[in-house]
Amino acid sequence: DVEAQARKLFATAFEGADKDAAAPGKEKLEKAVCVVAPGRVNLIGEHTDYNDGFVMPLALKLATVCVARRREDGGNSCRIVSALDPSSMCEFTLDETSDSLVAGKDTSWAKYVKGVIKGYMKELSAAAGSSDGTAVGFDAAFASDVPIGAGLSSSASLEVCTAIMLEQVFGVDSVSPIDRALRCVEAEHTFAMMPCGIMDQYISSCGVKGCALLIDCRSREPTEVNLDDPDLVIVVANSNVKHELTGSEYPDRVKSCKAAVAAVDEEFKSDGKSRTALRDVSIEELQAVKDKGAIDEVTYKRAFHGVSEDKRTLEAVKAAQAADYVTVGKLMVQSHESLRDNYEVSVPEIDFLVDHCLKQEGVFGSRITGGGFGGCTVSLVKSDKAEAVMTELGRAFNEKYGKDCACFATKLEAGARLLWNNNEA
Ligand code: ADP
Ligand code: MG
Repeated sequence: DVEAQARKLFATAFEGADKDAAAPGKEKLEKAVCVVAPGRVNLIGEHTDYNDGFVMPLALKLATVCVARRREDGGNSCRIVSALDPSSMCEFTLDETSDSLVAGKDTSWAKYVKGVIKGYMKELSAAAGSSDGTAVGFDAAFASDVPIGAGLSSSASLEVCTAIMLEQVFGVDSVSPIDRALRCVEAEHTFAMMPCGIMDQYISSCGVKGCALLIDCRSREPTEVNLDDPDLVIVVANSNVKHELTGSEYPDRVKSCKAAVAAVDEEFKSDGKSRTALRDVSIEELQAVKDKGAIDEVTYKRAFHGVSEDKRTLEAVKAAQAADYVTVGKLMVQSHESLRDNYEVSVPEIDFLVDHCLKQEGVFGSRITGGGFGGCTVSLVKSDKAEAVMTELGRAFNEKYGKDCACFATKLEAGARLLWNNNEA
């Protein structure tokens, strides 16, 4: 298990333990803390975040775990290590004026950790209690079972795991889960140079057991959507496909969405409404500007997806609240069809996984999830049928494509949390 992996790595990297020895029990790791932050999958609401729309992610059982301890000698140097590559330990000092916490200096995995540290420097300096504001360093070992680059947000889980680790190690209790998420978003923007939305860090930080989160990407308000049912699981199938992209796929779609908003705003400006994103546009208005020739067919299709996906997502919330999984599933399938035909971000391997999944008994719905052009599908499945569904998906995918897809079933898990703390008095 991942926690044992993190304990073992901590012991071998920082306590000189034999690398062949078993993982030490947590009580052996004096003064250390252990935290966890999950990866995520988006149930519905795809390519809506940058249109000020709605998303509905859930936290996975797959997660990043960190065991960490503050430096007992009060020095400000840090050592971090990941089980992904235990031989590459990264050392740096908690000094904002030196190079170690400057965005862009580090291009290794440590940039995610450093970006988050940067966002906590005020709290870390205060926690040290020294008059010159020098923060105290720490040792931290990370382990994770979130696959890298599969669209399940291993990077957000690493960031949020770092954030809650810092809070626990240094006794910071002034940071709310939303505030924590936003600091991690900032780290992803400035240190990883990834202009992402808020979804991944929000769900990893604020997730609630048994619930998905409806996130309003305009107000940044999260709302719990209960899907806690023993008869229900979420099945994720990783196609392991990553298509070569020319780089224009995403910017082109963002441009189409903006062009449609501008055309609708121009056409209907006499009504005095302010339209700044697809969020503010209706299907009827889109149709009208298309009929007038103000937007072309492709622009219309792209925008149609964004507008209709928001509607589906809000309908899915209502259906989930009524425990109407059949309707949630139907909306997921419509979402997939729209992403395939209107937004055109699916690929044959993913369409195959969705179509084949929908043929199985006990499946309410299935769709592509994430940015597209590969990655994973997410499906809503009856608990007692999940094993059979996953086995059949694996078999059929292998038969058709001669390679494996990795499937797992998960409940809706909690967001970032403390596992144990040996640092308390
Ligand atoms: P994803 O969709 O999984 O978030 P990204 O490309 O955004 O894909 O992030 C993957 C990167 O995050 C990895 O290349 C690595 O630098 C970093 N990362 C994630 N998890 C870990 C980990 N447990 N240990 C070290 N690095 C990690
Ligand atoms: Mg990422």
